Amino acid sequence: MSTTALPEQLTARMGNLGTETAFEVLARANALAATGKSIINLGIGQPDFKTPEHIVEAGIRALRDGHHGYTPAAGIPELRTAVARDLNARHRVEIDPGQVMIMPGGKPTMFFACLMYGEAGTEILYPNPGFPIYESAIKFSGATAVPYPLQEETGFAFSATEVLSKITDKTRLLILNTPANPTGGTVPKSEIDALVAGLVDKPHVTVLSDEIYSRMLYDGREHVTLLSYPEIADRVILLDGWSKTYAMTGWRLGYSVWPNDVFPHVEKLAVNNHSCVNAPTQFAGLAALEGPQDAVDEMVEAFDGRRRVIVSELNQIPGFRCVQPGGAFYAFPNIEGTGLDAKTLQTRLLEDAGVAVIAGTSFGAYGEGYLRFSYANSTENIQMAIARIKEMLA
Ligand code: PLP
Repeated sequence: MSTTALPEQLTARMGNLGTETAFEVLARANALAATGKSIINLGIGQPDFKTPEHIVEAGIRALRDGHHGYTPAAGIPELRTAVARDLNARHRVEIDPGQVMIMPGGKPTMFFACLMYGEAGTEILYPNPGFPIYESAIKFSGATAVPYPLQEETGFAFSATEVLSKITDKTRLLILNTPANPTGGTVPKSEIDALVAGLVDKPHVTVLSDEIYSRMLYDGREHVTLLSYPEIADRVILLDGWSKTYAMTGWRLGYSVWPNDVFPHVEKLAVNNHSCVNAPTQFAGLAALEGPQDAVDEMVEAFDGRRRVIVSELNQIPGFRCVQPGGAFYAFPNIEGTGLDAKTLQTRLLEDAGVAVIAGTSFGAYGEGYLRFSYANSTENIQMAIARIKEMLA
């Protein structure tokens, strides 16, 4: 998190806003590469694949067909309907397209949800280590950020008992993320069942379920969406999108599903904030959902192969120990055995070995003792990176 001074003209609230260190590491890695240094980037949280051609074509065609004006704030009706159909096909949940909000990426949903549910005197629960924007957006809203720890022993799955024990009368929102960034952890259905059972008598708690990695699961795991529990479905906000699944991070396209009575309010926020998502991107998103899914399957298969390689290689580095991640494209090894803290090791790996990774502490205090490796890079580069790390630590 950068420690830039706060000009006194700005609100105190601005001092509560955090950031995402991955972007800073990326900038430093690029700066080093520009000086001629060889850098292997295992820090970046985006697929190294191209957006499939038919999706790119659909975006270009939309522009040529004249789709360059405003669209409805909630998104073009065809896309909202396609999202509802996709959720039904993948998870057998019945969603009214009127609940689907097309967003400029996944992030705005978390920011909006925190602004809508958080204020001074309230509490919002979030995973730690977890995606850093959760804590940042919660603090910005004025709410108290209450972390629940994710532990290596459970493969970084949350414990329903622990999460439930942190809910108080002041809790307004509970943020969940599975498969998870930065750990690659997944949560067994039994644990989600237990959490939902405990939430039934806590109607003051809404759940924001970040399922942006829902298509990236390994070893036969199946995704369980929080929307599939009718007993709490009227207070679940689902966050998903195209960024990771279709290698579309730079297009800025995501969606969320909102409770019916809350929907007009998020729509109002969108009107105030961005009017609508850019039109050709929405048509590209439509082609992604309605077109062939082979490219997604191939990408996930490639990630699976690299996952096996990186985890096995990481476990051979003296001082490292890495559990097998069940989803996403991250490995989160414990590095305590090296005797170095996460930030020191991150810096030394980048500056001395030319390997960009992210310190676990960038994802919260409970990330100390860990590093995040993204395996959105070739197997060859992954192996070269591990060889460099071994050499540096020897
Ligand atoms: N949620 C999680 C858990 C993520 O890791 C990310 C991106 O890294 C996002 C949401 C944001 O996705 P987007 O780029 O679509 O805003």
